[in-house]
Amino acid sequence: MGTVLAIANQKGGVAKTTSVASLGAALAELGQRVLVVDLDPQGSLTFSLGVDPEDLELSVHQVLTQGLDAREVIIRTEDDVDLLPATIELARAEAELLTRTGREHVLKAALEQLTDDEVEHDWVLLDCPPSLGVLTVAALTAADGVVIPLQCETLSHRGVSQLLDTVHDVKRFTNRRLAVWGVLPTLYDGRSSHARAVLESIPGTFELEVFSPPIPKTIRFAEAPAKGRSILATANSTKGAAAYREVAAALVERAARR
Ligand code: ADP
Ligand code: MG
Repeated sequence: MGTVLAIANQKGGVAKTTSVASLGAALAELGQRVLVVDLDPQGSLTFSLGVDPEDLELSVHQVLTQGLDAREVIIRTEDDVDLLPATIELARAEAELLTRTGREHVLKAALEQLTDDEVEHDWVLLDCPPSLGVLTVAALTAADGVVIPLQCETLSHRGVSQLLDTVHDVKRFTNRRLAVWGVLPTLYDGRSSHARAVLESIPGTFELEVFSPPIPKTIRFAEAPAKGRSILATANSTKGAAAYREVAAALVERAARR
C-alpha cells in the first residue's frame, strides 16, 4: 500500500476536511493516485467533493461495521481523486464498534484489501471526525503518519497535547510505526500579529515539524464545497491553492525518506 496519512485534530473547524480535499487534489495533480476517506458522519468531505451523502446507499459505515469490500463503495470524483464516502449512518459506528474485538483495526483491514488491486493508491488521506473516539483511533491505527491541522489562535494548542497523548497510546498498543509528520498551520492571517506569534510558538511548544507555508485564510475556501470541487479547481491560482500545492510536494518528499 502507499502512504496512509491521518489528518487529525479533535477540534472542529480547523480545516481538516478542507486540507484532505485540497491535498488530495494537489497530490493528484502531481500524478499520484489518491484515495480520500471520509470518517466524519457529517459527510463534509463527501459533500465537498460533489457527492450528496443522502443519495448513497453504501458508505464507509458498511465497510467498517460489516466488512463490505471498500471497492464496492469507492467513487471516482471530478478532482481525479477516489473517495470512500460517509453518510450520517456512520454516527452509529462508534457505538456498534465499541463492543467489537479488534475495532481499532477495522479500517486498517479494509485498506489492506485494496492492495491486491491493479490500481494501487500512492496515498490514502483519512479525514478524521472532531473527536478522539473509536473512528479516530482506527484512523491512527491504519496510518503511517499523522498531520495535525492547527488554527493559529491561542487555546488551539491545548487540544493538541490531548491528541498527542492518543497518538502515544496508539503507538504503544495498536500501531508502532505511527509517526507524527507535523503540524499544518491553517486559517492563517499573516496580517495579524497574534497569528504570527502563535505560528512562531508552535515548534517550541510541541517539538514537532511545522509544514510551510501556512495555509492562508481566504474567503475563496468557503466557496469551494458548495461547488463540489476542491479549491484547487475553484480557485486554481490563489495563494491558498499554491500553499496546499507546496505542502503536497513536501509530503511527497517526506514519503520518499520514510
Ligand atoms: P474541519 O474539518 O476541521 O471541521 P473544515 O475543513 O470543515 O474544518 O473547515 C471549517 C470551515 O472553515 C469551513 O467552512 C471551511 O470552508 C473554512 N475554511 C477552511 N480553510 C479555510 C481557509 N484557509 N480560509 C478560509 N476559510 C477556510
Ligand atoms: Mg471535517
